[in-house]
Amino acid sequence: MLKVSQQHLKLSALLGLIGLLINLYPIPLFGNVQLVLGNLFFVIVAILLGPWYALLCAAISSIGLIVSWSSIHVFLFFCAEAMWLGFTRRKDIYALYADIGFWLIIGMPLFYLYATNFSELPQSHLSFITLKQGINGFICAALGSLAVTVFSGFWYLKNKVRDKKRRTFHAQLTYSFTLVLTISLLSSALVFNHQVILKQQESLNQNLHDSAVHLGQATEVFLDTHKKAISNASQWLSLSQTDISGWQERLTKLHESYSDFISMIVTDSDARIIAATPLELLGSEKVKNKSFSVKDRHYFQEAFYKQQTFVSPAFWGRGFGTDPIVAISAPIYNGSDSVQAAGIIEGSLNLTSFVDIEQKNLVYEMQSMILIDENERIIYASKSLALPVLSKFESVESGKDYKTSLQLINLYNLNNPNPEFVYTNYQLNNGWKLYIVKPFSPLLKLLETQYLTTFTVLLLSLIITVIVTRVISTRLTDPLTMIANKFGDKGHKNAAAYHIDEESPQEFLTLYQSIKKSKQELISYQLELEEKVAIRTFELEKANKKLQSLAEKDDLTGLFNRRSAESRFKTTHNLCLRSDEVMVIAILDIDNFKAINDTFGHQGGDQCLRAIAKSMKLFFKRDSDVISRYGGEEFLLILPMTNPDMVEDHLNEFRLQIKRLVINPPNEETEIMMTVSIGAIVANANYSKLLEDWFRQADLNLYQAKNQGRDKVIVTKPPAPSDFNI
Ligand code: GH3
Ligand code: MG
Ligand code: MG
Repeated sequence: MLKVSQQHLKLSALLGLIGLLINLYPIPLFGNVQLVLGNLFFVIVAILLGPWYALLCAAISSIGLIVSWSSIHVFLFFCAEAMWLGFTRRKDIYALYADIGFWLIIGMPLFYLYATNFSELPQSHLSFITLKQGINGFICAALGSLAVTVFSGFWYLKNKVRDKKRRTFHAQLTYSFTLVLTISLLSSALVFNHQVILKQQESLNQNLHDSAVHLGQATEVFLDTHKKAISNASQWLSLSQTDISGWQERLTKLHESYSDFISMIVTDSDARIIAATPLELLGSEKVKNKSFSVKDRHYFQEAFYKQQTFVSPAFWGRGFGTDPIVAISAPIYNGSDSVQAAGIIEGSLNLTSFVDIEQKNLVYEMQSMILIDENERIIYASKSLALPVLSKFESVESGKDYKTSLQLINLYNLNNPNPEFVYTNYQLNNGWKLYIVKPFSPLLKLLETQYLTTFTVLLLSLIITVIVTRVISTRLTDPLTMIANKFGDKGHKNAAAYHIDEESPQEFLTLYQSIKKSKQELISYQLELEEKVAIRTFELEKANKKLQSLAEKDDLTGLFNRRSAESRFKTTHNLCLRSDEVMVIAILDIDNFKAINDTFGHQGGDQCLRAIAKSMKLFFKRDSDVISRYGGEEFLLILPMTNPDMVEDHLNEFRLQIKRLVINPPNEETEIMMTVSIGAIVANANYSKLLEDWFRQADLNLYQAKNQGRDKVIVTKPPAPSDFNI
């Protein structure tokens, strides 16, 4: 079950709120494409606290986007992204790598499907917007990861998610490089593209403006020229004294000079056509009979009654065919009567003539023009626009939520939220209006291509830099690994194959050399130490042996002491008991030793003790015999596995040997002679396991020997326990 920490909850909510605020103000890239940076906070939470807190943070910060984009989809996508980052974090995957994975595998395909089916975005725009979502994700993941790394001290949290496995220096170095590169490359690309786009927009606006002014002025000149032509013609006809019947000829001549007029007429004061060109359009009969009146025509009334040169709005011509025309008319006076007009002269401008103006003056690619009159009727529209002439010009400003300095307009689908054209307009001095338009989607496409190209180049350079980074970090980490392995506890099996080459950094060489030196010193110190320890151990063993023998032996005679004899009795007795053998316990006492001491001094006495000990060692020479100095001038003998019948003789033999022994004390001319008394017992080992029992009997015999005159051996041979039973 998930344990909820108050501290973690608060931090996630706080970061979510900061993200929300930042997401309220997305950074516009161009058009309606924006960059959102508030998402970096759920990346931080995912890295620090895992998927569930990241989900909370993402849910809060996405509210900012729901407000600024009024779209609910962000909620789902970013929550999914946050969870993904949280779960991959638990698997020790770096956030940037995980995020790239998310957008490539889930995010971008799903977003594309979503946008295709549920959004109003133009199809041509979708791949770019989808890519932008991914790039946006990468930037946020990189920024979030960097924030966690750089401000690592700031995120001191209990129970935060930690790496399960210790990461290698190589992996850390590569990731850090990749993070910094991703951020710097992507952000510089965005800033650079943004600047370029601003410039492009400026130049596009300038081009549109240039075209508008150029075409507008050309149109004005065109109109003025024809206005002047009519005005001049009216004066010329007014002043000519020719009979009206001659005007047909003059009009025909005039028309030849102004081929842009589709037709020209002259009327009398009753608005009846009295001259027309080309004559065949109206019919010469009609002109001759003056049977065609234009009294109801606007151009007649304006010129005749208001007595001015008049340029009409566009209208469908009548009588002379059914072309869309603009009529230019002026009053004609008869001779000297300049008060009352005698008729009018009119020229019908062929609207298709604007093609010439357009062709001569519209130099920029993909630009089109629309000329509308004061009644908002289309006088002329470039063929590519397919707008019917004389139809009402209908348009709506669009792209209200597009961040651009361009003016955007829709001409076909007035409800389409996606702009159709970029435009500028020019007000002509006669009240007409000229629009220069350029389709918006190719522009968008161009910008998208520009972004795509930059991102592709960036991606390539990122891949290259990551490879280079790996090489560099390998250069740094390999020597370290080598040093670690070579001098490590176990030593690497291929350690000999490693080497610090010339390109390895100086520090590594120094480190390697100093560790190598330390290790050599350590080894020699170790050897020295081992040698010392060996010597000490040897000395100690020697001392120990000495100590042991000191503890076991008597100083003066070198025989076993009393304590040692007692402990040896047990082992000897056990041995005999096991093999059902007899053993002898004998006590030997020097006779009248006090007298020897008194006569020859302690030195002499000691010499006697040493001499007897030496004799004993030589006489009782079996390895199993235990000879000991039991105290003072008393010696205890333990002789196992002895022939019971021979014991007494054997001991007597020794007694006699001592009797014959002559000792020459130093600095004395006299000789010391001495005798010994021996009390002994010979019995099967099962006689008793206690030395006291044996000793008591031997001592008793010794006592008797002393009593019987000394220099004597008395041996007791008690019956075997089995004998008692008989
Ligand atoms: P006995 O024939 O009855 O054994 O008479 P003794 O004089 O030998 O016996 P006693 O017990 O009267 O005297 C033993 C003497 O041995 C007394 C002591 O001074 C002497 N003695 C004991 N240990 C040493 C020793 O280590 N060195 C010397 N020089 N004399 C010792
Ligand atoms: Mg004695
Ligand atoms: Mg004695």
